[in-house]
Amino acid sequence: MAATVSDSSDASNRYRAAQLGLTRLLVRDVRGLRRLIIPARLQATVPDWLTAMQAVIDQYARVSASLGADFYDAQREAAGALGPFTVPVADPPPEEQSEASLRWATKDVWERDAEDPATTDAQREPVEVRLEQAEKKAEAVAQKLVTDAGRGTVREAVRQDRQATAWARSAALGACAFCKLLATRGAVYKQDTADFRAHDGCHCGVVPVFKGQRFELSDHAREWERLYREHAEPHSGDQLRRFRKALADNGHLPAL
Ligand SMILES: [Zn+2]
Repeated sequence: MAATVSDSSDASNRYRAAQLGLTRLLVRDVRGLRRLIIPARLQATVPDWLTAMQAVIDQYARVSASLGADFYDAQREAAGALGPFTVPVADPPPEEQSEASLRWATKDVWERDAEDPATTDAQREPVEVRLEQAEKKAEAVAQKLVTDAGRGTVREAVRQDRQATAWARSAALGACAFCKLLATRGAVYKQDTADFRAHDGCHCGVVPVFKGQRFELSDHAREWERLYREHAEPHSGDQLRRFRKALADNGHLPAL
């Protein structure tokens, strides 16, 4: 039985790599759907694109959720947790949620009156540029919805499983300062109401902690924590910026 668990075990790194790989395939499929939009016929073609995007997001969200469930099962077994438990596999995001996100991503695509003072610079760009921007946003939105399905599955399993006590954030070495900071907080106990905060493009994972296990920060997360305490924590109001600078000054740049 694994007596300690960290934010960066081989298993959790493999799980994060699998989610990242899934995201790459998702982005490839999302880019393929772009040809459904005909710039000269936006009104007629964007709705078809929306429908196709939702289908792709659904399909990938199901895979993401089942990757999360497999990871949870393996971690649970490695922890020697007692009794059977069936992971509640998250459903794909509700249609209203993915539709709202995709409508946000495409809000600047529509033809506007250039004379109207309410028209923004982004909306005055040529249609190709507007579509390019919308495409990027749609990729980010799809990635977050899909990755959330896997993270949500692990979080919900921790909540329901009597053998699970906590969860921790697993951030990649190349994660942004915001994610690294949250990862240094270590185990978040299930009775705490803290939510998992994720931004678009965030690939952080959720690691479950079971009864009898002790959570330990990985060496690199402990180093992030030290940098935060020394360089950022005392500077209320400016902590994230200072932490980002301390990471950069000490060779912990995001690997973009
Ligand atoms: Zn992240």
